[in-house]
Amino acid sequence: MSRFVALPQGVSEATFAKAIQEYRALLGEGRVRTDPASLQSYMKIMIPETEELHKPSAAMYPKTVKEIQAIVAIANKYKTPLWTVSTGKNMGYGSSAPATRGQIVLDLKTMKKIIHVDEELGYCLVEPGVTYYDLQQHFKKHKMNLWVDVPAPSAMASPMGNTADRGVGYTPYGEHFLFSCGMEVVLANGDVIRTGTGGVPNSTSWQANKWGYGPYVDGIFTQSNYGILTKLGVC
Ligand SMILES: Cc1cc2nc3c(=O)[nH]c(=O)nc-3n(C[C@H](O)[C@H](O)[C@H](O)COP(=O)(O)OP(=O)(O)OC[C@H]3O[C@@H](n4cnc5c(N)ncnc54)[C@H](O)[C@@H]3O)c2cc1C
Repeated sequence: MSRFVALPQGVSEATFAKAIQEYRALLGEGRVRTDPASLQSYMKIMIPETEELHKPSAAMYPKTVKEIQAIVAIANKYKTPLWTVSTGKNMGYGSSAPATRGQIVLDLKTMKKIIHVDEELGYCLVEPGVTYYDLQQHFKKHKMNLWVDVPAPSAMASPMGNTADRGVGYTPYGEHFLFSCGMEVVLANGDVIRTGTGGVPNSTSWQANKWGYGPYVDGIFTQSNYGILTKLGVC
């Protein structure tokens, strides 16, 4: 019997144990969990399938983009698949349970910085763990004349996860992907890219000029597994 809750498809227990050892050397024991109690919250699904099909093998909690890049390198080395969630409130579709058994949940809820809010131009730049509630509280605290559009599952969800989901809210700003402006993404090879004018050195218009130069690629990072979003502009 395996000492792990689940194993990624095609990965032996010995290989998985080695991968976990490397992830722990990077993040420490507390931020790489494999025990059933810690994984319990990633097993809840609300679709008519057995939970067995969606059991994660581990959960990890990076805090920086550099850590995510290092995680991707280890994932490539041991072929351990990653399942990214921002706040993991994807209720109705699968909560924060991975799409396939044995994936490692990359839980980004501890990356919670509201990096910048521009009241005059009406945009912000956030990390994955920032919720709509966090943003509303931030506006209130700084007496900003701004209001955030929230989807039905409530303000506990994240602009990042909801936009990656291509979710919707209720006001004229409710089409959340349409009102995103600039992404930072860690690709499968560990490279970091910024879309739109975020890729232009010393750009000051990343959240103000959605299109940038050349092809517009943001859409391929929504409802996909082409990259890990680490920053999102909301306008
Ligand atoms: C009763 C009910 C009503 C709902 N109503 C609405 C509604 O009105 N509007 C709406 O939009 N949704 C609705 N939902 C669906 C869902 O709850 C929301 O979409 C919610 O915002 C998703 O949660 P989250 O923001 O925590 O995203 P997460 O759970 O963190 O992420 C959602 C998915 O996006 C991807 N993802 C997340 N973060 C990243 C990242 N950093 N990089 C790459 N991929 C990532 C992953 O595939 C993940 O599974 C509803 C659900 C229920 C049950």
